[in-house]
Amino acid sequence: MQDTTIEKVVIIGSGPAGWTAAIYAARANLQPLVLEGVPKQEPALMLPGGQLMLTTEVENFPGYPKGVMGPQLMDDIKQQALRFNTRSRGVDVVRCDLTARPFTLTLSDQSTLQAHAVIIATGATAKWIGLPNEMRLARTGGGVSACAVCDGALPVFRNQPLAVVGGGDSAMEEAAYLTKFASAVHIIHRRDEFRASRIMQQRILGNPKCKPVWNSVVLDVLGENQIEALRLKNVKTHEESTLPVKGLFVAIGHTPATSFLDSKQIQLDEKGYVTMPVPHRSMTSVEGVFAAGDCADAVYRQAITAAAMGCRAAIDAERWLGEHDIH
Ligand SMILES: Cc1cc2nc3c(=O)[nH]c(=O)nc-3n(C[C@H](O)[C@H](O)[C@H](O)COP(=O)(O)OP(=O)(O)OC[C@H]3O[C@@H](n4cnc5c(N)ncnc54)[C@H](O)[C@@H]3O)c2cc1C
Repeated sequence: MQDTTIEKVVIIGSGPAGWTAAIYAARANLQPLVLEGVPKQEPALMLPGGQLMLTTEVENFPGYPKGVMGPQLMDDIKQQALRFNTRSRGVDVVRCDLTARPFTLTLSDQSTLQAHAVIIATGATAKWIGLPNEMRLARTGGGVSACAVCDGALPVFRNQPLAVVGGGDSAMEEAAYLTKFASAVHIIHRRDEFRASRIMQQRILGNPKCKPVWNSVVLDVLGENQIEALRLKNVKTHEESTLPVKGLFVAIGHTPATSFLDSKQIQLDEKGYVTMPVPHRSMTSVEGVFAAGDCADAVYRQAITAAAMGCRAAIDAERWLGEHDIH
């Protein structure tokens, strides 16, 4: 089905970046259309509302002195955007033609639409080990997380033994952050040395709270409502063991949700993050296409930074449309 209207601005993604971009674009009278995405299990768990739909308590989003549940926060931001006449559709973008303006987006319901400006806010999904009990306890606030900055300060982790899985720089950063709260941080890594930079390794290996568990993988996460222990396997000796912990932080990387973009049309970095050539701005390598949130940010990956990037993208899009006499 071909829709002949040309949208002024289409926002792809309905996480904190997408809905915040919508609030700003709608209040600027651009009648934005948000493409919310559809729920997916593969290649990674993704929901309309974004990554915060997978968590329980959010304690670090400004404006909620008592904290807020992730799905409630997302509903609040969405309702704020809808109040200003944002429109939305529960579809994925499966392909974009960014070679000519207006841009053409192909959607998962087989329809296409055209837009003068596009804001890409599709996020990045945390990689999980893939164990059923890991996901169950992650989704129910049972002490499994993919973000130390988000969850490390929760009371349940204070003065408790915790575990980090991973061996790269971000695993080292997660472990270093957790040492502020934990009694011990066990770093489980499948090899006998970390991949992280030497300086990060030195920082971790010199910290008495950090205890590497070499050559090991997690076989299962034990605990009914709260994590109690990890079942580990040494990949060299094949020996199995149980490690009591009160928290598990999975730090094996993130995947930006940008596979629907053609890297010949828009610049992505080697990991697939959308690159933004002008520092502190939201423009991408394609004029009229803007990016916001975790799909363009491998560093901070927080709801508030994503929301702030959504704000920037909407303001940049509004100015760009104005410069092209599209009001
Ligand atoms: C378990 C967990 C706990 C967290 N806790 C906190 C916390 O306490 N505090 C905090 O600040 N941050 C937390 N974070 C991080 C935070 O969730 C992210 O930084 C934030 O959600 C990023 O927002 P975003 O809008 O960029 O992307 P996302 O929230 O990932 O949203 C992306 C959106 O894009 C949609 N989408 C993807 N592909 C397409 C497509 N092709 N077409 C259409 N739509 C598409 C998805 O459906 C989704 O709606 C947590 C993350 C996780 C995983």
